[in-house]
Amino acid sequence: MRVLYVFIDGVGYGEAGEKNPVCPEVCPTLCALMQDAVHLDTRLEVPGLPQSATGQATLYTGVNAAQVMGRHKEGFPGPTLCKLLQENNLFMELHRRGLSVCFADAYFADTADELAARRFKSVTTIMALTTPGVIRYQKDMLAGRAVLHDLTREAIIPKGYTGPLITPSIAADQILAIAAEHDFTLFEYFLTDIAGHSQNRERAEEVLRSLDTCLAGLLNGLDGDTLFILTSDHGNIEDLGTRGHTFNQVPLVARGPLAGQILAGATSLMDVMPHLLRILCPQGDNTR
Ligand SMILES: [Zn+2]
Repeated sequence: MRVLYVFIDGVGYGEAGEKNPVCPEVCPTLCALMQDAVHLDTRLEVPGLPQSATGQATLYTGVNAAQVMGRHKEGFPGPTLCKLLQENNLFMELHRRGLSVCFADAYFADTADELAARRFKSVTTIMALTTPGVIRYQKDMLAGRAVLHDLTREAIIPKGYTGPLITPSIAADQILAIAAEHDFTLFEYFLTDIAGHSQNRERAEEVLRSLDTCLAGLLNGLDGDTLFILTSDHGNIEDLGTRGHTFNQVPLVARGPLAGQILAGATSLMDVMPHLLRILCPQGDNTR
């Protein structure tokens, strides 16, 4: 069995209405997935609005990172969260257990040293740097073996990219091809969070439509041996009435083999990693 894990930043369950672009008219596939999903709490028993660094660190370590920090940490992880992620994370743990792991997002960079030297590193970059062979570069993207975080590559035009653009459907095909070659593949999409902060309904719809086309392509092309998982770190885009994040719950979607075991009993961001390890490495040590 293989796993394709799609992480979408800043998508929660909100009240239907003018302020919520996450609706069937805009993103029918995402809405259908969310309807079938388990709802996860993102507050992690720590006061304040849920944030990305602590939420994502929790998803990828299984440890309550907000509690470790004593608060919700936005944006990029600082020393404490870096240490937590460098000690153990989903990529490391699966690699240690002999599984092939891939981070399907293409970096607009050429080497790991270049990434390591960046001043601000995301949770996924810190975790990708801990594990050999998971990082994909610009050359991989150009060869169709990695997908830029925005699906279409438009985001790197201002950074000097002059190559071809691709459609969200082609991005989906490429993600599926990458997933077919690995035991575990992660794809991260964060334009949803940025669009949420913008409070711009038009931009939010544009981002959600693009994502939805990709999701439809992924679901269409999934083989029977691949477990599809989708989740988020906190709410945001589902309430354009506020510039910040929300306290709303987020979806945990699982489709395919052993989906029921991913969902059963999951109530918070902390539950995703242990459930994944349990099904991917049933003989392994899952006690940590
Ligand atoms: Zn945000």
